[in-house]
Amino acid sequence: MSAYLQRLMAEVKSRNAAEPEFHQAVKDVAESLGPVLERYPHYRESKILEQIIEPERSIIFRVSWLDDAGRLWVNRGYRVEMNGAIGPYKGGLRFHPSVNQGILKSLALEQVFKNSLTTLPMGAAQGGADFDPKGKSDREVMRFCQSFMNELYRHIGPNTDIPDGDIGVGGREIGYLFGQYRKLQNEFTGALTGKGLNWGGSLMRPEATGYGVVYFAAEMLATRNQKLEGKTCLVSGSGKVAQSAMEKLIELGAKVVSFSDTGGTIHDPDGIDRKKLEWLKDLKNIRRGRIREFAEQYPSAEFTSAESGDLDENFLWNHKADCAFPCATQNEINHRDAQNLSQNGVQLVCEGANMPTTPEGVKLFIDRRILYAPGKAANAGGVAVSGLEMAQNSMRFAWTREEVDHRLSLIMKNIHRACLDAAEEFGTPGNYVNGANIAGFVKVADAMIDQGVI
Ligand code: NAP
Repeated sequence: MSAYLQRLMAEVKSRNAAEPEFHQAVKDVAESLGPVLERYPHYRESKILEQIIEPERSIIFRVSWLDDAGRLWVNRGYRVEMNGAIGPYKGGLRFHPSVNQGILKSLALEQVFKNSLTTLPMGAAQGGADFDPKGKSDREVMRFCQSFMNELYRHIGPNTDIPDGDIGVGGREIGYLFGQYRKLQNEFTGALTGKGLNWGGSLMRPEATGYGVVYFAAEMLATRNQKLEGKTCLVSGSGKVAQSAMEKLIELGAKVVSFSDTGGTIHDPDGIDRKKLEWLKDLKNIRRGRIREFAEQYPSAEFTSAESGDLDENFLWNHKADCAFPCATQNEINHRDAQNLSQNGVQLVCEGANMPTTPEGVKLFIDRRILYAPGKAANAGGVAVSGLEMAQNSMRFAWTREEVDHRLSLIMKNIHRACLDAAEEFGTPGNYVNGANIAGFVKVADAMIDQGVI
């Protein structure tokens, strides 16, 4: 890393002291962009990198709500509007107890590059609250969402900032949020995406992130003349992204043998077929249960509690497989997990989650020539179809499932190509990390310069 980038990192750490995830996200970008800043000094002269890592606006607000027993609770809500140079701010909302400013800034920074890669006109944001929907009744979730929107509505809109779901925010939460937004603004506009099909949602939005990840993985394997068909795949998570990734993998003839939730992991050497996946969807989406119940239903599956064994290791990554799809959360593959994956014969790691692999894990994959795609490229299908939902809302028109799926697969192919081309142009062929950062950066940086850097 050059002296300039080392100084930048030191400043990032001192100005954002308690935000390790944000440091990690900035370092990842800075390391990739070194050669670009060398070749094009005007980016450095205009301090584009310094500006890109500073949110344009960040909002923190109180969210008070009543539980079913009439008790009052106080949570903290956030929206980080990171960059609006190429379109209105766009990115997810996360409801999870771990949510804080640093995590959201790191996700919002990832979103800048991801949204740029989709080729659609979308700026970047991320938001959420330290609220845990788990174990809450529908009424409690509704009251929380309404209170959250009572402040957020001032800052969003179809031409300003368009939130979507993320961890803990799915169709139910988007419904309550949209209902409150509509009441407060007295208008029916596409100010949120991930909406229900009857009220402005796009076909394929729920499946888009996971399907897109699998389309991306298929492109990666094709560079080595291989296919997903017949490959044994480890998937983590059992939420929106994991479910749709599993569905597409099964459709393409791969054998999925694992998934997880915060309670533990399931390994099923017989493979998860469509019937088992439907059972899992019902468990997680309707009954809102825990995956340990899957092992009670299907004796071929083994459940390992998250609390058993060595806590420095995620058991899910210690099984024989060809491909791995982390689809749960950040930093779920550490160096030891990466080593286990490599020793178990994994040839491809394609990220459905955002930043699921620690920097040490990423380095190991790249050093061992394992095909590795970072989430900012591989999981961009979700926000891409959100962009298509915005386009359909603007036209007051709905495309068919086939039309949206076709556009999604083209977008994922184009992102894959853009990553490979940029990595090659800057001297690191096959390095999807550098490729994604460079290809995503150039478009946003040029737009910022065109619009005046101050
Ligand atoms: P989700 O529907 O809430 O599902 C998250 C899943 O991961 C759940 O199964 C959850 O378990 C599990 N999980 C969460 N934290 C975990 C932990 N610390 N250890 C083990 N399991 C954990 O969320 P999602 O939308 O699928 O998002 C998953 C990831 O994809 C996130 O990194 C998100 O930022 C990223 N992503 C999502 C989208 C999208 O369109 N939704 C788009 C791009 C990227 P429990 O059931 O126990 O909570």
